[in-house]
Amino acid sequence: MNVSALAGALGGLHGWLSGAGQIAYAAMLLASRIWLAQATFVHGLMAMMQAEGFARLPPALDTMLQGVLPFLLVVGLLTRPAALILLLGFGQPSIEQDFAGPRGVLLLWLMAQGAGPLSIDYLLRIGLRRVPFSLVRAVWQFYRGIERLTAEVLPFATRLYLAVFLAAGSGAALWSQPITGEFLTAPWWLILLCWILILGLFTRPIAVVLCVIWPLMPLLGPEQSFTAVGLLLLLIASRGPGKLSLDWGMVQATGILHGSQERVTERAPRVVVVGGGFGGIATVRSLSRTNCRITLIDRRNHHLFQPLLYQVATAALSPADIAVPIRSVTRGQQNVAVRLAAVTGVDASAKHVLVGDERIPFDFLVLATGAEHSYFGRNDWSPFAPGLKSLEDAVSMRGRLLRAFEQAESETDLEKQKAWLTFVVVGGGPTGVELAGALAELAKTGMDMEYRRIDPAQARVVLVQSAPRVLPTFSPKSSEEAARALGALGVEVITGAKVTAIDPGGVHVDDVRIAARTSFWAAGVAASPAAGWLGQAGDRAGRIIVGPDLSVTHCPGIFAIGDTAASNGWAGKPVPGLAPAAKQQGQYVADVIRAAISDRPSPPPFQYTHYGNLATIGRLSAVAELRSFRLWGAPAWWFWGLAHILFLGGGRNRAAVALNWLWAYVTYRRSTRLITGSIDDP
Ligand SMILES: Cc1cc2nc3c(=O)[nH]c(=O)nc-3n(C[C@H](O)[C@H](O)[C@H](O)COP(=O)(O)OP(=O)(O)OC[C@H]3O[C@@H](n4cnc5c(N)ncnc54)[C@H](O)[C@@H]3O)c2cc1C
Repeated sequence: MNVSALAGALGGLHGWLSGAGQIAYAAMLLASRIWLAQATFVHGLMAMMQAEGFARLPPALDTMLQGVLPFLLVVGLLTRPAALILLLGFGQPSIEQDFAGPRGVLLLWLMAQGAGPLSIDYLLRIGLRRVPFSLVRAVWQFYRGIERLTAEVLPFATRLYLAVFLAAGSGAALWSQPITGEFLTAPWWLILLCWILILGLFTRPIAVVLCVIWPLMPLLGPEQSFTAVGLLLLLIASRGPGKLSLDWGMVQATGILHGSQERVTERAPRVVVVGGGFGGIATVRSLSRTNCRITLIDRRNHHLFQPLLYQVATAALSPADIAVPIRSVTRGQQNVAVRLAAVTGVDASAKHVLVGDERIPFDFLVLATGAEHSYFGRNDWSPFAPGLKSLEDAVSMRGRLLRAFEQAESETDLEKQKAWLTFVVVGGGPTGVELAGALAELAKTGMDMEYRRIDPAQARVVLVQSAPRVLPTFSPKSSEEAARALGALGVEVITGAKVTAIDPGGVHVDDVRIAARTSFWAAGVAASPAAGWLGQAGDRAGRIIVGPDLSVTHCPGIFAIGDTAASNGWAGKPVPGLAPAAKQQGQYVADVIRAAISDRPSPPPFQYTHYGNLATIGRLSAVAELRSFRLWGAPAWWFWGLAHILFLGGGRNRAAVALNWLWAYVTYRRSTRLITGSIDDP
């Protein structure tokens, strides 16, 4: 490995650690606030109230502070003033000296750096900056100033404090007495580690090691110091050492060697990414520390979490819960410009992307335009059996099915009423199964007692699958479980049968006609027309055929990823059309581009890692296959829910989805049963 490659690897490791560290830092700030709140409540507050400073306060205010401060700390509201009030209580003669030191530093940290992303302060920060009261704005500016001023000094001072504290072996000695020969009572290796901590060399692992070994030593301080010191060490480990450290110097040095400065130069290579779905966003994010100018083009302004589209279609979630504006996803990434535009072609030889008459030049192009519905040559069915691919599809599907219940309520002819209450879902893959299950659940429990002439629970949901079993990409046992769970919800599952005709009044399944006024298509997908832009015929599904490095043959600098690409990167098998596959391909292509930009050898061919299959059928019912580990029923459902909340983009969306699910779980109600648009819409 040459020096540049080593520098690149170190740079990559640093980038990964910074990303993971940000999440861990937010969690550690929350943990610190919770611990401080309980410690204040349980141990410290009474003593603090008796101390001189607070003794002057009226008793009512004392009592209020005792109750309010821990609450403010836990939720992260007015965290800095709360921390300041608690800090002012320290140093009073009545406070336990041992308790004061590390806890005081923890409070100082919160005062200087704020409560972090998992707090109400954080949510309000943009609003506060703009409120019409100059005093509030001035306070906000003041706190921002403190945050900036202490951003580098605080981690250094904390490291220094912790090193001396740990080596001295007693918080009391450090807090109240001058450091003397006692300082040298620690074993030599602990003193060595403390020195390394002060210098800021390999700070994150050293802080974690100290956090693990220090409590095992006979030099233990009091119980409260034990937790506070641990939290301070983990704050350092997650946030990193800051600029006043040898680690920072090393990162700078590797950056210079590797030529991967974060600052983007004007002559940096131009990377155009078409499509802000899972693949496109993964590419853009993975290039965040690369010296290149990225243009991300999408015809929609949002990144969509497609796996939950069926929940919007069945009125369980709102459209805004599963989509985030692409601009907000890339807000913090200086080397990206977002364009809202529909790409119409590519001039591969001139290296231009075409948006109508406009030409956008590129050095590297990543096509991540996803897939569209395929009616297997019967596009005339699409108006009668719409599919699910975009937010518009989901909202329109929701309108269709809710209108069907409204029509049934006003229908006097029983046969016609039955047709309005019959829903056919074509396709027994994950989307069809999830859609049919959610539809049946909505009818059975979601609209109880709301209609007077019909009983929505009598609705008939039919799932038609041409293959011999539903969920054909899952194991036979999971398919069996899914069919059983669908049956329990009242869904009629027809397997091994083909849909031969669809019209506004019903569906022909083989020779049998099912009278149904509402049908949905979940049977086939075809790639976007991107292959045609490159003059390729594509594979059978119209996907761009790519090589082992996901590049398009005879089109240097052009890559295709995700649902629009046909790659055999799954140990020689075709890579499936799944979100994790698109993400992995996006990250891989970013590596290839980074290597090309910095004149390094390309990474080895793309290899897809399959983590498993998940599908939910209804309340407390799902199937999960994670490599050789299988789950069904309620455990799989909880796993499915947690995984989806975790992978959903945006904190607001995660909170909204979790809250909506909790609400639906407890009340059995669907809060988003809105028919938008005119009732005369077809
Ligand atoms: C209903 C449904 C449920 C699914 N459930 C799951 C699941 O549970 N688990 C799972 O792993 N996968 C699931 N998938 C599949 C998964 O969503 C896709 O594999 C994944 O989204 C593919 O990512 P992508 O980046 O290739 O394309 P997409 O995420 O589809 O993104 C393509 C982007 O390109 C943009 N675009 C297209 N054409 C143009 C153009 N001409 N100009 C500009 N922009 C353009 C689109 O607006 C879109 O933003 C589901 C898919 C659907 C439709």
